[in-house]
Amino acid sequence: MFKVFIAADIEGTCGYVDWAENQPEDALRREEMTAEVNAAIAGALAGGATDIVVSDMHMLKQNIYHGRLPDQASLISGTKRRWMWMDTVQACDLVFLIGLHARCGSPCAVLPHTMNTLITGLQLNGVDAGEALISAVCAGHFGVPVGMASGDRAFIDEIRSCLPGLETVVVKEAVGSCAALNFHPEICKSKITEAAENAARRGIKGEFKPYCLQEPVVLRLEVTWPGYAEALSLIPGVRRNGGREIYYTGALPEVISVISLFVNWVSKAT
Ligand SMILES: [Zn+2]
Repeated sequence: MFKVFIAADIEGTCGYVDWAENQPEDALRREEMTAEVNAAIAGALAGGATDIVVSDMHMLKQNIYHGRLPDQASLISGTKRRWMWMDTVQACDLVFLIGLHARCGSPCAVLPHTMNTLITGLQLNGVDAGEALISAVCAGHFGVPVGMASGDRAFIDEIRSCLPGLETVVVKEAVGSCAALNFHPEICKSKITEAAENAARRGIKGEFKPYCLQEPVVLRLEVTWPGYAEALSLIPGVRRNGGREIYYTGALPEVISVISLFVNWVSKAT
């Protein structure tokens, strides 16, 4: 048995260039997201995977049309999860990141952000961390490596800087923060299938290594509004530095708790 965990976002899918929730094109974008996840699943199964867990990680996290996935695929949907979008990764063998985007502050990227646009800076042990690095360290904490990633070129450059050996697919290049040169969606999906198959084969052979941070982990989080930093400073151990910046030092699960508390509760309550 070889189980692949697919964390799936939408901003890094082919054709997605602006937040389109509740607009007519939303359904089309969700279809493309589902199709790219399906392309990754087809490759994973062809490469020897036997089970797939898909984790919807975008906004309300209910974007993927589950009925269109093959019956080997379970789907985690819904918000307010302890590990944000990586819960249950400990029961899996390999991680794929499909449709992700670059971290907040990236200059040449499509919709760069880190979880939401209220976070303006996030570092782990002094290293800028976007959703790519956060995914890798959560999986790494449980001994699970990342094997492939797809998204815009800025995201792929970002993840390759910390995980140089993984299989990657670039589906578009930024023309601005809300515009992209998109490659043809069918070409993107066939490349995703090919990369996923290679990644599954390599993962079964043990070619990927988990990405682990040295503990204790130092978190620096900068937010848009002082009230958010004030709320976070109520957590024991959190140090506030100036108006909009907090620090926390601890084991990785505690650090992820602080981030999850902000993303899932504090930033939703105001
Ligand atoms: Zn998203």
